[in-house]
Amino acid sequence: MDKREQIYEGKAKIVYATEDPDYCIVRYKDDATAFNGLKKGTIAGKGAVNNRVTNHLMHLLESRGIPTHYVRELDDRETLVKRVRIIPLEVIVRNLAAGSMAKRLGLEEGLELKKPVLEFSYKNDELGDPMVNEDHILALAFATEKELEIIKAYALRIDEILTAYLAEAGIRLVDFKLEFGKTAGGTLVLADEISPDTCRFWDADTNEKLDKDRFRRDLGQVEGAYREILRRLLDV
Ligand code: UDP
Repeated sequence: MDKREQIYEGKAKIVYATEDPDYCIVRYKDDATAFNGLKKGTIAGKGAVNNRVTNHLMHLLESRGIPTHYVRELDDRETLVKRVRIIPLEVIVRNLAAGSMAKRLGLEEGLELKKPVLEFSYKNDELGDPMVNEDHILALAFATEKELEIIKAYALRIDEILTAYLAEAGIRLVDFKLEFGKTAGGTLVLADEISPDTCRFWDADTNEKLDKDRFRRDLGQVEGAYREILRRLLDV
């Protein structure tokens, strides 16, 4: 399927229409932003890593019963996906305290949580993706009650599947962000990406950060960390 007009350009990806209204093509860029766009840069090779890692993990999740928008990898940077209407929520799953949760609650990063924590943010750049709770989601009709139940169940199941899978590659899944969408037929599916841009990955032995925190916090070895995740998961 060929690319047609660009329908969206975000910070890290471009989405193109195809000749079939039920499908689109995602192209992953090397551009990186952090702190709601305040910090900008490029991470050489990031687009290819995020494309390949996302597709690998989406394929794994599909094989374990989670419906996703993934259809087929087209090349290093481009993937054919089902066209969906994105539910305007960032669904965050946490296994260890880190990032904004550690800051907000005054916790040491790496503190083990007694159970996974689910958080929701309203996807709105101008407002800085404010955190919302389940009442906000239902009262503002960001999702229906049924959709919210499915999203929660999928998010926790995805956490179980990915935590076990990544552990085998020596990677600790600290936290991650998911987005869901609805296909033309009304099916709720996992969409967007699962990559070092959207997950905190720590080396299981050393706790070395192998994700976007290296860029956010100027830790150096940013490209190397992305490549290391690709190597551990796809053996390339
Ligand atoms: N995250 C993301 N996009 C966002 C916000 C968060 O992919 O707009 C991911 C982030 O990479 C981390 C998890 O969600 O894996 C939790 O992020 P947190 O709330 O700690 O925010 P941050 O510290 O990244 O600002």
